Amino acid sequence: MIDKFNSEMSVRYLKGVGPSMAEKLSRLGVETIEDLLRYYPRTWEDRRCLKRIGQARIGDTLALYGTIKDCTFSVTKRGFAIVKAEIFDETGRINCMWVRRMSYKYDVLQGFKNSFKPDQNIIVFGKVGLDQAGKYVSVEEHMILDGARKASLNLDRIVPIHSTTEGLTSSFIRGIVHQALPKAELPDPLPAQVLSEQKLLPLKEALSKIQFPTSEKDIVQSRTRLAFEELFMIQSVLAIARMRRKVQRENVYALKKNLLTPFRLACGFEFTNAQKRVIREIFADLNAPHPMNRLLQGDVGSGKTVVAVSAMLLAVENGYQALLMAPTEILAEQHFITLKLLLKSLPVNVGFLTGSVQGKAREQFKADCASGKIQIAVGTHSLLEDEIKFDKLAMVVIDEQHRFGVKHRMKLTQRRPMPDTLVMTATPIPRTLALGIYGDLDISTLDELPAGRQKILTGLHKEADALKIVQTEIEKGHQAYIVYPLIDETQSKTIAEEKEEDGENLLPALGLESSGKNRLKAAVQEYDKLRTKSLKKFRIALLHGRMARQDKEKIMIDFKEGQYDVLVSTTVIEVGIDVPNATVMVIQNAERFGLSTLHQLRGRVGRGKDPSHCILVGSAQKDTAQKRLDIILNSQNGFEIAEEDLKIRGPGEIFGVSQHGLPPLKIADFNTDLPLLKVAQKAAMAVIQEDPDLSKKEHAATRDHLRKHFSKSWFLATVA
Ligand code: ADP
Ligand code: MG
Repeated sequence: MIDKFNSEMSVRYLKGVGPSMAEKLSRLGVETIEDLLRYYPRTWEDRRCLKRIGQARIGDTLALYGTIKDCTFSVTKRGFAIVKAEIFDETGRINCMWVRRMSYKYDVLQGFKNSFKPDQNIIVFGKVGLDQAGKYVSVEEHMILDGARKASLNLDRIVPIHSTTEGLTSSFIRGIVHQALPKAELPDPLPAQVLSEQKLLPLKEALSKIQFPTSEKDIVQSRTRLAFEELFMIQSVLAIARMRRKVQRENVYALKKNLLTPFRLACGFEFTNAQKRVIREIFADLNAPHPMNRLLQGDVGSGKTVVAVSAMLLAVENGYQALLMAPTEILAEQHFITLKLLLKSLPVNVGFLTGSVQGKAREQFKADCASGKIQIAVGTHSLLEDEIKFDKLAMVVIDEQHRFGVKHRMKLTQRRPMPDTLVMTATPIPRTLALGIYGDLDISTLDELPAGRQKILTGLHKEADALKIVQTEIEKGHQAYIVYPLIDETQSKTIAEEKEEDGENLLPALGLESSGKNRLKAAVQEYDKLRTKSLKKFRIALLHGRMARQDKEKIMIDFKEGQYDVLVSTTVIEVGIDVPNATVMVIQNAERFGLSTLHQLRGRVGRGKDPSHCILVGSAQKDTAQKRLDIILNSQNGFEIAEEDLKIRGPGEIFGVSQHGLPPLKIADFNTDLPLLKVAQKAAMAVIQEDPDLSKKEHAATRDHLRKHFSKSWFLATVA
């Protein structure tokens, strides 16, 4: 018998956990003793108060204390064992029912038969229902009472309820957690000084109180401590990333203006005050003693691209190379096209690289990048691979769209000279939250749209009406987009899955489980119909993610140059595409799209001087889908929409922390824990400032914890 468990030990050491249970536990992510103790309850049930039988109401979930009057055991044809017992007290009687699946291995009824006898006292816990014979309790847990009431893990206390998986019950988990707790010896990853400053429970006490609270206060205190710890660790990583950047700047910049000024002139519009301000902020960073590490956030259409291009041109006119990195191939392509058009009249050499650029083209790119011939490289994270060498890389722009993460940013900090970094995001984030996720960055916000922008009329319409509006606008000389959720009908995949391949998981955002009934429209088939029927008169093109790169590129350029009236597409056009003459965006099966996608799609129109339309076609069958549509219909402000989205989905999902290269939150909640986040951030910064490598003895446990829980690939590489 082992009398001490350390955190690394396998759950196999626990009594009752054999290979099969261990396998099931590992499906829940529980492998070690520490995993188990940190497998926090999903909720708790207050089973402290026993009710009198006469008080039981239909629908209540409650614990009753009574005496068995009589009981029956039976087996159904479908292989279920049913136990029924009538219990009574002085206030009344009620039927109780247990259902168990039959097993070939043992008699599931045996235990019941042994102990269920008339006059036996029992506590049952479960939900009260109604059948022909009257009220009954569908029993979840029970406890046979032999004389005096014994303490039980499952009844007569606040009981933790854990998420389970097939073949593992919550009461089994409860049992092994209870077994492990007293023997576990876990180092506390929070520095002692932080614990005392913040008046937090030590780890062991917190785990014991979160698993087996004896009061509501226990739950609150232990949750606070554990949530603080979780946020503190994330903030420590960000603080380390920030410290890493505090190296001496090596690249020097002067305002030469031999590219910047011609670029401004070629744009053909005056930069907004917000754009000018942000460009000044960037320039100030470039003259500061440490490399720049800035987040540029701005609503869709606020003109982030010209800001990014200005930053890159600053590098180029100083003789350096710049890099623009997008999270997906299609986005990278769109950026490449945009850049080529914006820089058409300037002597700047732009190169392109993604995973699918192979063979000779790749070799050429590598050679030109290494020689410095390519001044601006556009592409995906392929650009960061070790085989790609730059001559003088000084400026990195990451178009994040919340899909890159701290991991990529950390990787950049290892380069020497360390490049200046600008991260762009189109999803505005409430400030506190931004601090939580981008704690290692300075933030600039484009809070102004270019002048003369027209309102986008957003409405929910029938398909036929949508097409009428499309027709009217084309007749005025404008262009239209029609977006579908699927590429083609044979595609069993949904748009969400397609996006997932692109690295974004939208499944939860879309409430997919609900919308099976609406037939999903597919771009390829609808394109054929539109082309031969309702929009026959017009020039119409099809664009989707599975087309060859050159074809996509040609269609995007041709559409931009006005050679097509209508572009039928999937959400590949969600970001990046920029055609001011397009004034209609029709979104088919709009109920299927998440809020930020809807807002981004809408942002493809309203880019010129003319009023635009965003037409949603579809019907919501689920409340959340309806809420999303309502929000989109009522607001055009990205910050507002993000706030509303936050309310529906919670920030965990929107800014999926894991997408930022950070582990998912197990207990903290960005929605409710913002105040705690601030405190945790301050505490983490103080610790990291004092001990940037966590090399002091009192920080050893913190360091071990970070090592264990943050992807080794970069953390080990950087915190040696
Ligand atoms: P986003 O912030 O969504 O990436 P873009 O950079 O794509 O926005 O800019 C949207 C559109 O607005 C583009 O057509 C761009 O050329 C145009 N634009 C950018 N800045 C200005 C400005 N100051 N005045 C007028 N139009 C502008
Ligand atoms: Mg953009």
